[in-house]
Amino acid sequence: MFKSLLIANRGEIARRIVRTARRMGLRTIAVVTEADRTWPHWREADEAVPIDSYLSIEEIVAAAQKSGADAVHPGYGFLSENAAFAEACAAAGLIFVGPPANAIRTMGSKAGAKALVGSVGVPVVPGYSGERQEPDFLKQKAYEIGYPVLVKAVAGGGGRGMRRVERAIDFPDGLAAAKREALASFGDDRVILERYVEAPRHIEVQVFADALGNAVHLFERDCSLQRRHQKVIEEAPAPGLSAEMRQWLGATAIKAARAVGYCGAGTVEFIADASAEPRRDATFFIEMNTRLQVEHPVTEAVTGLDLVEWQMRIAAGEPLPLKQEEIAFTGHAIEARVYAEDPADNFRPSTGRLWAASFPEATGVRIDSGVEPGSVVTPFYDAMLAKVIAFGADRAEALRRVQAALERIRIAGPRTNLAFLAGIVTHPHFAVGGVGTDFADRELAGLAGEPLDQSLAAEAIAEWVRRAGDGPAADAPGPWSRADGFQLGGLRGAGALAVEIEGQAVTVGIAWSPRGPHVVSVGGKAPASEPEAEIVWGEGQAFVLARGRQLCVTFPDPLSRRAAGGASDGEVDAPIHGRVVDVAVATGQHVSAGDPLFTVEAMKMEHAVTAPLAGEVHQVRIAPGDQVEQGAAVVTIKPAEARR
Ligand code: ADP
Repeated sequence: MFKSLLIANRGEIARRIVRTARRMGLRTIAVVTEADRTWPHWREADEAVPIDSYLSIEEIVAAAQKSGADAVHPGYGFLSENAAFAEACAAAGLIFVGPPANAIRTMGSKAGAKALVGSVGVPVVPGYSGERQEPDFLKQKAYEIGYPVLVKAVAGGGGRGMRRVERAIDFPDGLAAAKREALASFGDDRVILERYVEAPRHIEVQVFADALGNAVHLFERDCSLQRRHQKVIEEAPAPGLSAEMRQWLGATAIKAARAVGYCGAGTVEFIADASAEPRRDATFFIEMNTRLQVEHPVTEAVTGLDLVEWQMRIAAGEPLPLKQEEIAFTGHAIEARVYAEDPADNFRPSTGRLWAASFPEATGVRIDSGVEPGSVVTPFYDAMLAKVIAFGADRAEALRRVQAALERIRIAGPRTNLAFLAGIVTHPHFAVGGVGTDFADRELAGLAGEPLDQSLAAEAIAEWVRRAGDGPAADAPGPWSRADGFQLGGLRGAGALAVEIEGQAVTVGIAWSPRGPHVVSVGGKAPASEPEAEIVWGEGQAFVLARGRQLCVTFPDPLSRRAAGGASDGEVDAPIHGRVVDVAVATGQHVSAGDPLFTVEAMKMEHAVTAPLAGEVHQVRIAPGDQVEQGAAVVTIKPAEARR
């Protein structure tokens, strides 16, 4: 076995590989980009090398050489299916923990892969995967295949460069769109055509081959729960598969791997007609992925094997650890991918700092996460935060465990798909098993459930008012203090506060009692609470977490808003809609930062505003008794000359 390993990846996959490598006694070397400094993967390795890009072959090979690594594990994504990278590693004398470059290259082409496996008797989806690309020729082929057809990029991956075309009249446009997307994503606009299998199941087989010519399979995974052709939930074994069908799938996958002279870990993917129990005559090869996959843990859970360890042993030239008849599976495992994305906004990736990120420990549950509190989710990389893998004696137990785990994960800051995932694993159709790839897209509206009610923000708001009123305290949840110009300390009776809840302006009614302030209404509704709800504090914000959902409350902080708007320029806004009760300054007057400027009253609550900076009062656009709009620029201060 080699002695040291560089992991050319990030996040949960880098952490997962480090874990096995360490257990095997290897020295681990991570790579990290500047954008990933707040992520923990690189700190867990024995050494970390800064790089500019996880996609730079040159940088990664140089990092491996500089750190004295013997081997390189590409993880998945990035360079994991890049034949040139495998070759560059070999040329630099590094062991590449992955298949031979020629297998990557052959299987990297959907056309080449289909031709090759078809030639050894593996059934492929009927279609056209030849070289000819003239639109009229392809249209004729589409007619022969029969509509609907799927236009797929030869070099495709991740569901990109794929277009379903319903009718001949739509073919030219569909073809052109698929080609454009293929060229943009893969630099190759060649396409193949396939018969569109209506709402199929996606069933894939984990295979392993060693350099001595042995090959085995580790059974199948069902990855039919997809959104727009991208996997969301995976499980092993596939529900409702007969023993005979399972045996056939495994043998067929091995045939495909042998056809390309495979070595290492790979996945042979099939689609199967979902209208009945999977049958041989309605199951087709679609592609082979020449790497470890995101969903490999469900196979690990049911077989009890460590797939990364197998990869390393094979890369080191060892034979496969087990023979086919020694590999068995028990129970059921389900994996759910947790993403920083907003289901309410078309699943748009959601970025920002994670004010909370905690993952429960529970029997039968494994959580591979890439983040910790304080990690910043950037737009530069895939938005996956973690994956939850639950194992049970049977599918029902695995489902219960994955649901319980999803509900106990706490993430504050970026939006997540947690509630959407919980909606899937508790859905009665999903509980039956065997749903098709269209399930999540079809049921979308019902899956994410209701958002949290705004009135759940009451407790967080009361807490904020208490702290703001108390002035700067060591344990203050936010950065507020009297100096920030927002004073509540002297207030008594009832009042109103303008906050933002989920980006919407909301007026909160507040009453003072001898025990302090409490919230009497939120946006005109009575305050609510939920026993499970929890408050996490961010900068100028509170996040109310409950049932995998969050409610973001943004508090008024005129000073920092100004600063954010472009370096304190001396423009001072009204913090709230209301009536000016006092103006403490006049034009020409000199003020120091923190001096009182004016006071606005809204619903019997006074908001005193102080000078954000020192200087000369240049303009005062208000007088006592005036009504002002929230955000209106009412006082201008000419900043004092900055001393150099
Ligand atoms: P990619 O490499 O982009 O992931 P795949 O060929 O692996 O593309 O297909 C991804 C998904 O697209 C499949 O899991 C399935 O949901 C859908 N799909 C692929 N081929 C077909 C087809 N011929 N008919 C219907 N759906 C398909």
